[in-house]
Amino acid sequence: MTEKAKQCQRADATLCVHAGEERHGKKTGLTTAITQASVFVLPDVEEMRKYAEGTSDAYLYSRYGNPTVNVAEKKIAALEGGEACLVTSSGMAAIHSFFLSACRTGDEIVSMQDLYGGTTHLFQETLARFGVSTHFVPFHELDSIEKYFTKRTRVLFLETPTNPTLRCADIAALAKIGHKHRCCVMVDNTFATPLLQKPLRLGADVVVHSATKYLGGHNDVVAGALVGGTEWVEPARQATKQSGGCLDPLAAFLLIRGLKTLDIRVQRGCASARAIAEFLGGHARVSRVFYPGLATNDGHQAAKRQMSDFGMMVAFEHRDGGCGAEEFINRLRLWYLATSLGGVESTVSYPLLSSHLGLSDEQLKLADVSAATVRLSVGIESVTDLLADLQQALG
Ligand code: PLP
Repeated sequence: MTEKAKQCQRADATLCVHAGEERHGKKTGLTTAITQASVFVLPDVEEMRKYAEGTSDAYLYSRYGNPTVNVAEKKIAALEGGEACLVTSSGMAAIHSFFLSACRTGDEIVSMQDLYGGTTHLFQETLARFGVSTHFVPFHELDSIEKYFTKRTRVLFLETPTNPTLRCADIAALAKIGHKHRCCVMVDNTFATPLLQKPLRLGADVVVHSATKYLGGHNDVVAGALVGGTEWVEPARQATKQSGGCLDPLAAFLLIRGLKTLDIRVQRGCASARAIAEFLGGHARVSRVFYPGLATNDGHQAAKRQMSDFGMMVAFEHRDGGCGAEEFINRLRLWYLATSLGGVESTVSYPLLSSHLGLSDEQLKLADVSAATVRLSVGIESVTDLLADLQQALG
């Protein structure tokens, strides 16, 4: 059986620990070494010739490839069930490299409107300047998304669950529509992680991650990943060689180490998030809870179909509006006020002043975000302590 076939049979928890890593020999450590080198030594000119002809698998220069970085790529490819993976210096670098390689002037993108703000800016500002335009589809119009496709549409971009209201889009149904229009279907799987949702199995062509979040998992590394068929990932790798958005070997080591515990972090986070959603749902100072496991959440049925659990994020609206939300955040003692998510530390964020800053009233309404909205990223602390802190902060 090939190494790849063996990996396909293994459970995610095992892949998190072992995928991509060789069983090192007597003289090497158990863990993957950090190859902290910018450049590699070639044995002779013949090897250099082979490299130039594209027939050598030697490493040459770390912007092109690095052994530690390569292990991180193999691990993430195994978890997503993808043929190839490119890891990059950030999630934005991965998205950027993909669009640099996949689109040309005149192409169009159809995208969900509920997106991470950085992705929206990339579409609206940078890609637009190079003649690539984007049609943003509000969540409640996803059922009639076909009207946004034209002959020039090249990519369908989905992000699910969304930030911060955790709406879930039906990946399988939308991928079918994207393919009918000969598009590449790309899914930002950051909020779900490959352990809860596997977009490639649901019909997507490429998956992107802000590996800064759950994959790294410790709020100590910025990284990104692109996974899918070689026809999409390898051109993006070439684009990264040119843009320079490669991952540093030390950051790759931290990513590998973080990935090893992904399964248990996700299990703990999901169980705690469920308890927190229940607690908030019964609290007098909370007027609305956003959590994919609730029947009232947009896309709950899709979440049930395509996710193995409902994730580690919960959001809510404070009954006392913006003042109540601000007071609640300031009173928290255990939860950190920090705009990122997916780390072992539980964090709280205020979308109006972070991810959704500067949006018009109309845009906020479409995103279902208001001054009262608070977003929680549930870490791995004791749920009793997390609940006690929420309780005292709600007053
Ligand atoms: N996608 C999502 C869903 C995100 O939340 C983020 C960052 O918050 C990104 C992409 C961008 O990732 P990075 O910050 O690693 O560049």
